[in-house]
Amino acid sequence: MMRLPWFEYRSPETVREAAKILAGEGPSALPIAGGTDLLPNMKRRHQLPATLVSLRKLKELKKVANGSGLTLGAGLTLSEVTNVAAVKEKHRGLYQAAMQVATPHLRNMGTLGGNLCLDTRCTYYNQNYEWRKAIDFCMKIEGSVCWVATASKRCLAVSSTDTAPALISLGAKVRLVSAEGEREVALASLYRNDGIEYLTRKHGEILTEIVLPENEGWKSTYWKLRRRGSFDFPILGVAAAVKTAQDGTVEDARLTLGAVSSHPLVIQVKDLLVGQKATDEIIGKAGDLAESRAKPMDNTDMDLRWRKRVVADFVGYAFRELRGDDMSAVRLRTARQSL
Ligand SMILES: Cc1cc2nc3c(=O)[nH]c(=O)nc-3n(C[C@H](O)[C@H](O)[C@H](O)COP(=O)(O)OP(=O)(O)OC[C@H]3O[C@@H](n4cnc5c(N)ncnc54)[C@H](O)[C@@H]3O)c2cc1C
Ligand code: SF4
Repeated sequence: MMRLPWFEYRSPETVREAAKILAGEGPSALPIAGGTDLLPNMKRRHQLPATLVSLRKLKELKKVANGSGLTLGAGLTLSEVTNVAAVKEKHRGLYQAAMQVATPHLRNMGTLGGNLCLDTRCTYYNQNYEWRKAIDFCMKIEGSVCWVATASKRCLAVSSTDTAPALISLGAKVRLVSAEGEREVALASLYRNDGIEYLTRKHGEILTEIVLPENEGWKSTYWKLRRRGSFDFPILGVAAAVKTAQDGTVEDARLTLGAVSSHPLVIQVKDLLVGQKATDEIIGKAGDLAESRAKPMDNTDMDLRWRKRVVADFVGYAFRELRGDDMSAVRLRTARQSL
């Protein structure tokens, strides 16, 4: 049995208090929300914070405000997010992504903010201490070599969050609060293509809310590839969103891939789609473009060449669904549930 290391536990009641504790304790303190990622990581000795600052009592992080756009508190559990009517009805891509994270139990504990800050993953890293010691560790922690690509100067661990690609395609921004002040940034810029320093979040910053813009005329979707439909981390996530005119002409389009890089990978599809009808040919080109940009590495489940090849297929499923095709049979095959 893997045991947790010793740590101090603080349980503040306001964001201000939590930010003050994080600032006072320095980098050895980490925020904890649902703990579904951080606690297993601590058991495997990936992360060894001296102090955990719990976010669970922070009422500000449970906000749901539905006005011209939609604001979601970072402390909402993924189950709570999927129960927000506006998410289900107007931000389908987020609903589908959140519904496919882990299992119902984990969605009842795991939060949206924790999902956005999820640690990057790798076969050589998500192992217990003894396993990692036997290979002399790796660059991400305690070692010096990357076993996925020994010549690589950086860690190539995979961004495995389901909701980040979905929210990026929805044009989301996030608010970060620290003892020094607060800032709002585009969600895409929260991430770095670096398996170790995968977030631009500064130490002591708490992600407090996710802000979605008004999305009149937009439709969105999320398709996930994983070994087991019941639960598994993504080995490919495809988040697409399209704004379409009455006659079917595409006015705007966004595409973000998950699990093919150390950050959610934004693919610029506007030049291909805007001003066009989403024909099979245009959708095929968007799929080919995404496939050429995706760089899956040999550090997660399934064969990497196959994972690269199916990118175009999954992008096709997403854009065909947004065009109005009935994709429910294909969806059932990949998700094993109707979404
Ligand atoms: C068996 C299993 C299967 C899983 N499958 C999936 C999956 O399919 N898809 C997927 O995306 N995830 C999956 N997860 C990971 C995890 O359950 C989810 O990502 C969950 O949403 C994490 O949220 P949390 O609140 O538990 O985060 P925590 O574990 O509490 O925190 C995760 C990280 O985020 C930081 N953090 C948390 N909240 C904030 C905040 N508000 N501000 C700043 N930093 C913060 C923490 O310091 C920590 O570094 C799985 C986990 C398990 C154990
Ligand atoms: S990608 Fe390389 S450095 Fe990063 S966790 Fe995997 S083996 Fe370690």
